[in-house]
Amino acid sequence: MKDPAHFPRRSFVAASALALTAVQTTSGTDAVETLAIHGGPKACPLAFSRPKRWGNEELSQLAQAVEQPSLYYWQNKQTNLLTKRFQDFYHHRFVQPCSSGTAALHIAVAAAGIGPGDEVITSAITDIGTVIGVIFQNAVPIFADLDPLTYNLDPDDVARKISPRTKAIIAVHLKGNPCRMQELRSLADRHDLVLIEDCAQGWGAKYRGQPLGTLGDIACFSLQDSKHITCGDGGVVATNSEKFGPLLIKYGDKAINRLNPSDSSNVIACNYRMSELQAAFVAAQLQRLEGIASKRSQLGSFLTKQLEDVDVLSLPRVEADDRCVYWSYMCRLKLDRVKCSRADFIKALAAEGVSFLAGYIRDPLYRLPMFQQHSFFAGRWPIKELGLTTVDYQMVALKTTEEILETCMRFPLNEGMDENYLKQVALAVRKVARFYAI
Ligand SMILES: *Cc1c(COP(=O)(O)O)cnc(C)c1O
Repeated sequence: MKDPAHFPRRSFVAASALALTAVQTTSGTDAVETLAIHGGPKACPLAFSRPKRWGNEELSQLAQAVEQPSLYYWQNKQTNLLTKRFQDFYHHRFVQPCSSGTAALHIAVAAAGIGPGDEVITSAITDIGTVIGVIFQNAVPIFADLDPLTYNLDPDDVARKISPRTKAIIAVHLKGNPCRMQELRSLADRHDLVLIEDCAQGWGAKYRGQPLGTLGDIACFSLQDSKHITCGDGGVVATNSEKFGPLLIKYGDKAINRLNPSDSSNVIACNYRMSELQAAFVAAQLQRLEGIASKRSQLGSFLTKQLEDVDVLSLPRVEADDRCVYWSYMCRLKLDRVKCSRADFIKALAAEGVSFLAGYIRDPLYRLPMFQQHSFFAGRWPIKELGLTTVDYQMVALKTTEEILETCMRFPLNEGMDENYLKQVALAVRKVARFYAI
């Protein structure tokens, strides 16, 4: 409390007196206390235990794979087990394990028939992997603005962005919070668009009781190390559609249609296969999924309850009948309600023993140099040179998208934490918020 610019002497004296009484008489919930960054005691001295993410189950599944004569995926044991366990959650008829979430999305876009000059509407706050496949198909990502409280696609802005060239929507369930699928579904149906779900951050989440990934036409998942379940790197793409199903195999495996060998390789496709070793690991990880998803969902709602009355924060909105799986807990700092920067707020929290991270991706995707310079392919963008698109990413500016990135903070919530720990996290946030509130 020694920042004269922010804290005039009179209130400093008053606050110190208050702090003393508070320390003596209350549990500290409403006390004005000296911030740890100014030499006060830490509000969150507890450390949380990191979850042990794999162990004997993965080892014994890997051991089974090692006994096999082949580690190739096609109709092999571990891939079949992965597929069966995935289907226990998702009930998709066609399931294609692949090498990454980015690969899953590229396969989905290719299977959806997206080609040169076609437009695909999606979020600009997401992993770049959401749009890499779109660009490789020579199609055009079109960015729609987001909801300020869920950070997901705003269906009204999606509707405004639909053009005669639009072929698909990629709904990114950011942080594992479901997009407004009913609205997006009806837009897609009305305009004959393929609805692709990017569930990379949404393993185990639910929209109105339905698993995320079962509401669109094609679902894409990532198994990269930071995701809810993992094999280091990997992905899954899945669908119930008879039309797209066989194409997932084809576009994941060098355009060979193993279901129908007479279907000749009339397109170009990458090798995005997953080996039996990764499949074994994922099969074991899938057994942990429900536990991880329900724990994160419960902890995230608990944290929101604990922070509900912190006026300087805007908390993530989750619909009552949805299940958000909090890939991380992302909230926003109301910069007009505090007399500090986001960086200062986070620094003060760190001193209290709580680690929040500022922002998410640094810039909305359209601000990346490859978009600003239209330089995707060795400095060129053939479809623009050929006049197949007139999109100019230098002209793109999405108000809410940019505001979200300027104000958001992420708390790395995970299933190793518990309510006791989160209570302390909330105490620290309230303490810092009280100090900096205007
Ligand atoms: C992680 C992620 C991807 C890409 O997955 P990789 O496995 O890293 O290729 C795509 N979209 C979102 C939303 C992600 O979080």
